[in-house]
Amino acid sequence: MSTPGVKLTMDGAELEVAPGTTLLEAARAAGLWIPTLCFDDRLAPFGACRICLVGVEGAKGPVASCTTEARAGMVVETQHALSRRIARNVVELVLSELPVPPAPHTELAQVAQRLGLDPTAGPAAARWAGVTHEPQLDHRHPYLALQHELCISCGRCVRACDEVQGAFALTAVGRGFHANIAAGLGAGFAESSCVSCGACADTCPTDAISERLLFDLAAAPDHRGAAR
Ligand code: SF4
Repeated sequence: MSTPGVKLTMDGAELEVAPGTTLLEAARAAGLWIPTLCFDDRLAPFGACRICLVGVEGAKGPVASCTTEARAGMVVETQHALSRRIARNVVELVLSELPVPPAPHTELAQVAQRLGLDPTAGPAAARWAGVTHEPQLDHRHPYLALQHELCISCGRCVRACDEVQGAFALTAVGRGFHANIAAGLGAGFAESSCVSCGACADTCPTDAISERLLFDLAAAPDHRGAAR
């Protein structure tokens, strides 16, 4: 006998999902967009970026859709005004700390744009007051380029390395503005257990970790200005 589904209402439509389905999964299955940055459906939900918030009738405040399971009778609003305002503010804060706008093809740039922000309108420092990260390139890996200044601490690379590859080569370090990632406990990729699978670069939403070949190509004089 099959397990009965969970019936809920999302943006006015009645849905039925399998038990254990998160609100984000339910929304995506219904073709509804909810912004995310730390989420990757190949990885366990993390609930860190707080931009996937939605409104749930009767809840004290917005809830993170990536870690909240659908329950029978829930009434969910994915376009909830306060949730979207928070998402926009969080993404604006993230953008304001970058020394350069994210490349247009990155997930960060695309999410920002969809939230009504213009991530490519000049250097971040010129648009927002405050400190930006100093460029810090780690070019020691034979296949990967690591631009620490583009790290937004979403944790996706660390989790991809742990959960997908099982290599445990990356670590989250620091707090707040100084949060970043380190390879080989700070000793660099050469000292780490990295097996060069590329899972970290594949999931990175900002190109903080990218394939070195593409990075070098974009940085070459003939390609300067091209999207990374
Ligand atoms: S390329 Fe190296 S650091 Fe990146 S996920 Fe694979 S093993 Fe981990």
